[in-house]
Amino acid sequence: MSLVSKAPKASRPVAIDTNLIARCGLYCAACKKHLQGRCPGCAENHRASWCKVRSCCDEHGYASCADCVEVSDPTRCRRFENPVARLIGWVLRSDRSACVRLIRESGYQSYALRMARSGRQSLPR
Ligand code: SF4
Ligand code: SF4
Repeated sequence: MSLVSKAPKASRPVAIDTNLIARCGLYCAACKKHLQGRCPGCAENHRASWCKVRSCCDEHGYASCADCVEVSDPTRCRRFENPVARLIGWVLRSDRSACVRLIRESGYQSYALRMARSGRQSLPR
């Protein structure tokens, strides 16, 4: 599903699209690279084969870590909480685990709508 919402923090409207929710919970639709047409988003970005979170979700058939039946809290997962991801999250002040929790609580559609409205790629840390 793909609708469009005018977002205050983005240079152009951010799509409301559950297919643009990344495996790790980021909202690719609001990412600068995606908005500039330089990245199709996590799911379609086959060059991101380096990402263990992405490959783990793909192996299990999960749309994101919110679907994981093995780990209820992604902060307890070594793949999710790897040192590089922690550093990037700290620098960008983004909280991917909060995104995953919100997807679990509210569902994919509600999450996409909220993130599109805010124009943010992640919930803030
Ligand atoms: S860090 Fe991995 S799971 Fe998250 S958006 Fe990038 S490729 Fe996708
Ligand atoms: S929480 Fe960890 S084990 Fe579960 S899908 Fe995500 S990366 Fe894989």
